[in-house]
Amino acid sequence: YPDAPVGSLLASGAAHFGSRPAYVHGDRALTFADVGTAAARFANALAAHGIGRGDTVALHLPNCLAYPVAYFGTMLAGATFTPANPLLPPKDLAAQLVDSNATAAVTFGPVAAALDGVREHTNLRLVIVDRPIGDLGPGQVEFQTFHAEAPPDPPEVGLDPATDLAHLAYTGGTTGRSKGVRLPHRNVVVNALQAACWGSGAVPALDVDGNPRLDQIGSPEEWPVRLGTGIGINLTPWFHAMGTIGSLIIPMLTGGTVVLHDRFDPVHYAADAERRGVTTLGGAPALFAALLACPEFHTRDLSSVRAVSSGAAPMPMEMFRALTNRLPNAVISEGYGLTEVTMAAVLSPTWHSGTRKVGSVGLPVFDTEVKVVPVEGGDPLPRGAHGEICLRGPQVMTGYHQRPEETAAALDDGWLHTGDIGVIDEDGYLSVVDRKKDMLLYKGYNVYPRELEELLVAQPSVLTAAVVGKPSADVGELPVAFVVRAEGHEETGEAELMESVNSQVLPYKRLRELRFVEQIPVSAAGKILKRELRAQLGPPPG
Ligand code: ATP
Repeated sequence: YPDAPVGSLLASGAAHFGSRPAYVHGDRALTFADVGTAAARFANALAAHGIGRGDTVALHLPNCLAYPVAYFGTMLAGATFTPANPLLPPKDLAAQLVDSNATAAVTFGPVAAALDGVREHTNLRLVIVDRPIGDLGPGQVEFQTFHAEAPPDPPEVGLDPATDLAHLAYTGGTTGRSKGVRLPHRNVVVNALQAACWGSGAVPALDVDGNPRLDQIGSPEEWPVRLGTGIGINLTPWFHAMGTIGSLIIPMLTGGTVVLHDRFDPVHYAADAERRGVTTLGGAPALFAALLACPEFHTRDLSSVRAVSSGAAPMPMEMFRALTNRLPNAVISEGYGLTEVTMAAVLSPTWHSGTRKVGSVGLPVFDTEVKVVPVEGGDPLPRGAHGEICLRGPQVMTGYHQRPEETAAALDDGWLHTGDIGVIDEDGYLSVVDRKKDMLLYKGYNVYPRELEELLVAQPSVLTAAVVGKPSADVGELPVAFVVRAEGHEETGEAELMESVNSQVLPYKRLRELRFVEQIPVSAAGKILKRELRAQLGPPPG
């Protein structure tokens, strides 16, 4: 694999795409060259404060122009990046700062107080504040003041890309406790290349199976010119893998421009996509659901859109069809990954010789293996059988941070046990059936909520839906649906909707209860928070 640290991607992006806008926020923009210079200054400023290799820098920021500077600055300084959701409750923020042993943090005005509130419990010795509100507190320094005068050439740092940690990323905490994932530079560089080559169709060299060969891809200086360019609106948070790799790093390889929006407003989103001639739309399915429900999305001229990429959660088949109809010039693709595989392991074919199969997330990216094993463990299952998805490849984490037992349970001979149930078809395409933890047991039968959710969202009266298990002393768990009605369908009743779903499934899978709700709770990364829905159902019997 290329023996290059993450900082080399910035260097080649800045060299190739210098004057092109890399990140645009309102009427402000940073060109690729700007990011290159500012990040180098930031790295030198960190070094001047004694922060470098072996240190961890927390980015407690929303998506903003300071982010790429602080992120690549951290990479160039040889330190480890830990992304912190700026809206984390104080207890969780403190836990991450302590667990990651962050010694420096970058935060911004409106959330700086939250960081300050937990600081005394951490090892932070430097806090950099972007756009501070009011006076700076003790030990705080303003973002521009911190780096603007530092030297513009990156410091010399000796790193081993195979072992030095680039990212210490925390899992989404959708199903339980968030865990630190150890990702050396090589993982990050390789996964960015895996996804960028797959998405662009620019394949430098192919192996016998038609997959790109990383060892023949050439030097980092050559990568960007081989790849395409585009413009996309970014809403995926950069503290989540899909945002960090997809929107922060991959533009360095593709020369693509990323437009930032402060918050998601579907009307503004659709209008801006038309105005800027956006070529790619990316995000979690929750974003596309909101866009499809917005009249503006259907009236704007979006003929410039060539690619739609969805990830982080399952895309319902109905949504795939609706997007295909609305954006006929675009290839709709899906990606499957976890924090534990840096970002992506399986992507649906775009340029690839294979065709997109509706309902499947696609084929493993190059140098990546996928197998399905029995949930209780054992040898790989034959194609067509349901089991736990396991992944192996250079992007798989080296382990959880300071959690040897959880690492041992998740990694086996390089294979990552994902906790997801899936099935591989005769052509090698993977479908994600559900999360192991979300599966229900009704009288000993497995019920996959996603099957019921697909049937629900296929109904015109349903905007979004989530199915969870209600504990029952007699039968185990009963499938219960939470449903947000589509606009104009206020008259649809629970019984009518349940009947139309239940008439399409085997008796043991039938919905036993359906509740209309105003909204379904989703995480910052756009994942449905089923544990919150389960809590609404009350405690188990007895
Ligand atoms: P935690 O592990 O802490 O509960 P999390 O699972 O949300 O959090 P992430 O690494 O952000 O942490 O999410 C990975 C999970 O997201 C996968 O295991 C899978 O369940 C789901 N996922 C990602 N992409 C897809 C997809 N295309 N289709 C279905 N599920 C997906």
